[in-house]
Amino acid sequence: MLLLFWPMTRKNRDTVAVVGAGVVGLCTALELIRAGFKVSLFDREPPAKQTSFGNAGYLAAEYMEPLASPEHIFSALRLSFSDHSAFKVTPDHGLEFLPWAMRFIRQALPENVERNQLAMSRLNRSAIEAWKNMLGFANALDELQNSGFLKLWENPQHLHHAKSAQQAAQQWGFDPQLLSGEALFEQEPALAKNINHALYYPGALHLGDPHRTCLKLFDCFKQNGGNYQQLEIQAITPHRASVTVTAPGQQHTYDKLVVAAGAWSKQLLKQLAIKVPLEAERGYHLTLPNARGTLRHILSSSDRNVVLSPLDCGLRIVGFGEYANLKSKPINKRYLQLRRHLGKLIPNVDTEHPDIQTWMGNRPTLPDSLPVIDLHPGHAHIGLVFGHHHLGVTHAGVSAKMLRALMAEGKKGETWKPFKESPDAYSVARF
Ligand SMILES: Cc1cc2nc3c(=O)[nH]c(=O)nc-3n(C[C@H](O)[C@H](O)[C@H](O)COP(=O)(O)OP(=O)(O)OC[C@H]3O[C@@H](n4cnc5c(N)ncnc54)[C@H](O)[C@@H]3O)c2cc1C
Repeated sequence: MLLLFWPMTRKNRDTVAVVGAGVVGLCTALELIRAGFKVSLFDREPPAKQTSFGNAGYLAAEYMEPLASPEHIFSALRLSFSDHSAFKVTPDHGLEFLPWAMRFIRQALPENVERNQLAMSRLNRSAIEAWKNMLGFANALDELQNSGFLKLWENPQHLHHAKSAQQAAQQWGFDPQLLSGEALFEQEPALAKNINHALYYPGALHLGDPHRTCLKLFDCFKQNGGNYQQLEIQAITPHRASVTVTAPGQQHTYDKLVVAAGAWSKQLLKQLAIKVPLEAERGYHLTLPNARGTLRHILSSSDRNVVLSPLDCGLRIVGFGEYANLKSKPINKRYLQLRRHLGKLIPNVDTEHPDIQTWMGNRPTLPDSLPVIDLHPGHAHIGLVFGHHHLGVTHAGVSAKMLRALMAEGKKGETWKPFKESPDAYSVARF
């Protein structure tokens, strides 16, 4: 009898190091603990202090548009010098960015858009269930808030955009309502009266405060025996059946390792002889604690390319997709642009309030708007989970489940069944 259980017990005693304690690393670390591994989580900072700190917290399961599409590229070119353009490249990054841009443009070919959209939709379809499961385990289901989502248009001539977005959403199984006039302002009284129409998704969810949610996941990780070390991992050395990590003045060896280092994963992967076209796509936010309670819904402005979120820590507006070197400083002008957009969308908010907080974070973005969820092709005891671009919060739970299956079972198995139409879409070898 004992012998029968031996392989399972052996596997479950394996030690794993997870590098990166953003939302993706935290969810992954928790899933691995649930699978019975002994997990050590590393981050050079306290948990969730980077990109997972200041996002909009929107679980955007309705979002089915890979960034690389002809519409996005034309709109970026058309608006390239306007405040309304979300797309930016910092001048010192232009040359480095070019090869990535070429790959990105190739992903906008119709057959690639179709394939990427399908793979994205499969993650979206499992995303909410995975979050409910994860937050249930962490006793934090109250982090999920059902506020509904309004996608806004100001220009009456863009009614056909809303109608075609509505049709596209219906094809993916959503049924957003087209609202205008009184019906719209009844839903969201704070809106500027020049907003002409909107698509309304009543079932949409967001996290009450994305940083707080991460801290609850972290508490759960520790309560379940997880070990946290605030260290910068400088080197990863794979061996035949183990991996050594090097931090300043110390080395530790584990049976397995996971790279979940967001936009910084590229450097770590170089040490593992893998090149990935991963860009840091910066986004900015303003959080207005004084305007908490102003909004009822998550809003996205199609004209201004910003998202507004009614978080417990305040009203948050986020925007921009700015490609830059990981070490370069935020551009202050972006905060002014966000203030301007906010004032135009929600006129009663004090956009000069002294308590307004500013923040910039690095989205880890690959050219096809899909993450990597895979094992290292040459070292099957190393897992890879990064590259979640604009949807890292949305896809963190489901990605963690998919990686857990690979790490625990060594194969895709039951967990990957919903992804069988896109078996290689998340592989690291696709580039
Ligand atoms: C403005 C903005 C708004 C957004 N809004 C949303 C939204 O509403 N919904 C949504 O789904 N997504 C949203 N996103 C995207 C989402 O925030 C990211 O995709 C997600 O946070 C990425 O998580 P991550 O864990 O991969 O990376 P991160 O949170 O960046 O975590 C990576 C961690 O790795 C650590 N690390 C890196 N290298 C090392 C090393 N060598 N040693 C030790 N530690 C290391 C870093 O310190 C960091 O803590 C938004 C992003 C931005 C910028």
